[in-house]
Amino acid sequence: MAASSAIQIPSRLPLLLTHEGVLLPGSTMRTSVDSPRNMQLVRSRLLKGTSLRSTIIGVIPNTSDPTSDCEDLPSLHRIGTAALAVQVVGSNWPKPHYTLLVTGLCRFQILQLLKEKPYPVAEVEQLDRLEQFTNQHKSEEELGELSEQFYKYAVQLVEMLDMSVPAVAKLRRLLDNLPREALPDILTSIIRTSNREKLQILDAVSLEERFKMTIPLLVRQIEGLKLLQKTRKPKQDDDKRVVAIRPNRRINHIPSTTEDEEEEDHDDVVILEKKIRTSSMSEQALKVCLKEIKRLKKMPQSMPEYALTRNYLELMVELPWNKSTKDRLEIRAARILLDNDHYAMEKLKKRVLEYLAVRQLKNNLQGPILCFVGPPGVGKTSVGRSIAKTLGREFHRIALGGVCDQSDIRGHRRTYVGSMPGRIINGLKTVGVNNPVFLLDEVDKLGKSLQGDPAAALLEVLDPEQNHSFTDHYLNVAFDLSQVLFIATANTTATIPPALLDRMEVIRVPGYTQEEKIEIAHRHLIPKQLEQHGLTPQQIQIPQVTTLDIITRYTREAGVRSLDRKLGAICRAVAVKVAEGQHKETKPDRAEVGEGEDCKEHVTEDAKTESLSDAADLALPPEMPILIDFHALKDILGPPMYEMEVSERLSQPGVAIGLAWTPLGGEIMFVEASRMDGEGQLTLTGQLGDVMKESAHLAISWLRSNAKRYQLTNASGSFDLLDNTDIHLHFPAGAVTKDGPSAGVTIVTCLASLFSGRLVCSDVAMTGEITLRGLVLPVGGIKDKVLAAHRAGLKRVIIPQRNEKDLEEIALNVRQDLTFIMASCLDEVLNAAFDGGFAVKPRVERLNSKL
Ligand code: ADP
Repeated sequence: MAASSAIQIPSRLPLLLTHEGVLLPGSTMRTSVDSPRNMQLVRSRLLKGTSLRSTIIGVIPNTSDPTSDCEDLPSLHRIGTAALAVQVVGSNWPKPHYTLLVTGLCRFQILQLLKEKPYPVAEVEQLDRLEQFTNQHKSEEELGELSEQFYKYAVQLVEMLDMSVPAVAKLRRLLDNLPREALPDILTSIIRTSNREKLQILDAVSLEERFKMTIPLLVRQIEGLKLLQKTRKPKQDDDKRVVAIRPNRRINHIPSTTEDEEEEDHDDVVILEKKIRTSSMSEQALKVCLKEIKRLKKMPQSMPEYALTRNYLELMVELPWNKSTKDRLEIRAARILLDNDHYAMEKLKKRVLEYLAVRQLKNNLQGPILCFVGPPGVGKTSVGRSIAKTLGREFHRIALGGVCDQSDIRGHRRTYVGSMPGRIINGLKTVGVNNPVFLLDEVDKLGKSLQGDPAAALLEVLDPEQNHSFTDHYLNVAFDLSQVLFIATANTTATIPPALLDRMEVIRVPGYTQEEKIEIAHRHLIPKQLEQHGLTPQQIQIPQVTTLDIITRYTREAGVRSLDRKLGAICRAVAVKVAEGQHKETKPDRAEVGEGEDCKEHVTEDAKTESLSDAADLALPPEMPILIDFHALKDILGPPMYEMEVSERLSQPGVAIGLAWTPLGGEIMFVEASRMDGEGQLTLTGQLGDVMKESAHLAISWLRSNAKRYQLTNASGSFDLLDNTDIHLHFPAGAVTKDGPSAGVTIVTCLASLFSGRLVCSDVAMTGEITLRGLVLPVGGIKDKVLAAHRAGLKRVIIPQRNEKDLEEIALNVRQDLTFIMASCLDEVLNAAFDGGFAVKPRVERLNSKL
């Protein structure tokens, strides 16, 4: 055989040891050279050599462990492939190395190792012939049958691939043109085989053995392809193409892990396609998805768009196009559930039940969108959650506070980098059903910016006429939102865009009275806090008087959030004590030794609890239940935050208490005035809006024109109040913008006090708009304002006569605690605000609120 070789390999060959793969005669391999021995070989043999002979090297698969590649030459595999070094590329990064392109010529076996250093050189014997590929002669082999069988399988395999790929067509031609004995080596290096299998083929020196060993490999590959084509029937062409890429790359020797990943990815795409086809998405969406998946298949994975498209398709599959929960609505159960979860808020609960009842009677009602408006912490969100619970629906909260970009609602177009769907679609993906309860939290805090108006986008979402085909920019296909139950919350309606407000039914949730807060605390907040802190009612006892103390002295709010936090602080402090007590019971002697240090060691978070622990006798475990009385409260929460303020501040003339409405509930507001020598100027401070400034001017004008009647004089005794006098009016809490006409009566009272030198009664608060003629006009937010006065411990409230009807909304116990003075003109206000009234004919109509 060897005699007819066209090229005779040299009898001495430098040896290149490769870890990465097995080179077979007739195939090409790219290998990285970085071991010192191989580097030397490349440098001194390939880079310096000039003749063709010097570029022929022996490639020996290094079967020993690559990590143990040290100084000594490992034991060499006996058989190798003589190869032609076709290309050498050098690089210094990340470390100096060469990349070598070698083409296998023929097998050889090592006869004797001639030298080991700097690179091994061996005396070799050529084992098979080097055939010229151009040789048309077909050898008439005695192995006829075996070779014929092999050839048939080879042809079958190649024909399963996509012939339109040039490499496959070339391979098909080579099958006919190459001598049969060259085929096993070439096909083995093309098809999917492990290094071990290749090594076996390399070792198979006899041609018969080589044919026999390669046939099973071919059969395996053919079976594999058949299986693949079965699973991908509809896309046969694409499969062929993908499979065809593999042999092509094999030649270039891409590490097999990458190929595995690639195949996995491809499988994923097939799975994705299957999911798309079986998903219940709308026809329009299905069309878009199928188009996208077609594009995806053609895209190389390295393209950034690949990931984008894939994410898009995955989202489309995940969206609950047709998946919904079954409503279970039973009004009686709903009533019980709402009552159990929430104390008080009767009006709200009543409206919610009506809403649910109509839903029950008329399935799939396109009802109005409920919008709960009220101060923070009054339970708006938690009612929303309860509604979801009663309906048996999923609940999702979408916080809209600060959202000022319409793409937050409607998504970014997919052309943008980092584009994503809006919050509505995201929410649907999260809940996984198409009929959840969506709570649009804080719709009054939507912003506006150059990126469009999110409120406008919300309009589409909330409009039952339009939202069955809501189109998110990212999805770019319509999604039906008509099954979603939207509920909105806000602190005020003033900042909700009118068009949006128009779509909603506003239900006001006013703040709570002290009594209601006590009940809420004992029924809901305390049990919840105990559970969160791992405490039991046997360990801690908070009597109602303590709760009242917390409410009046440590919080001043319309809702119960701050109260909840304070209760949390108490529970934390008690938890420390309880844990310490348990600790002492198990280790009694330690507490006796150094009680001071011991205590500090445990108290890390809340310094105030330290004093609580200090105060108690640490040597003994605390007595259970730990009673939270006023002293304990002081230890834990510090000195009371709101106390005696009212009477302290009303100790000089020129101060009056007004009632203001804010989005956070009602508040009492001290209006202060002072006068000084000047030119009759009025200074106003405290961030006032225009309407409030006008009220101040009105008040001054009215007082000036009525100065004589009320015996009001400036410092020099003149009835011209502004003669040589400047007035400064201040509305404290200067950081908060205030506006509205309702401070009119307070300003008048405050100035009347300043000019008369008399004190305003310390137990009276007031609200009302004034006119130039001295009339008192009705104002809004009476309920919240009255509650604020009640919270602050005031006894009398002056309100406009025409607001009398609003008092009906206020809880009876609050009305009983307060005295209401209905004023229709400023005379009545002043007479009620000052002890003994003013010396003008009174028209007072006092009303004791026993309504
Ligand atoms: P909002 O949304 O109005 O700001 P939340 O719903 O977040 O207020 O309520 C704050 C906390 O107060 C919640 O833990 C809630 O359970 C509790 N809460 C408020 N009102 C009530 C109530 N009437 N009954 C029981 N718990 C309440």
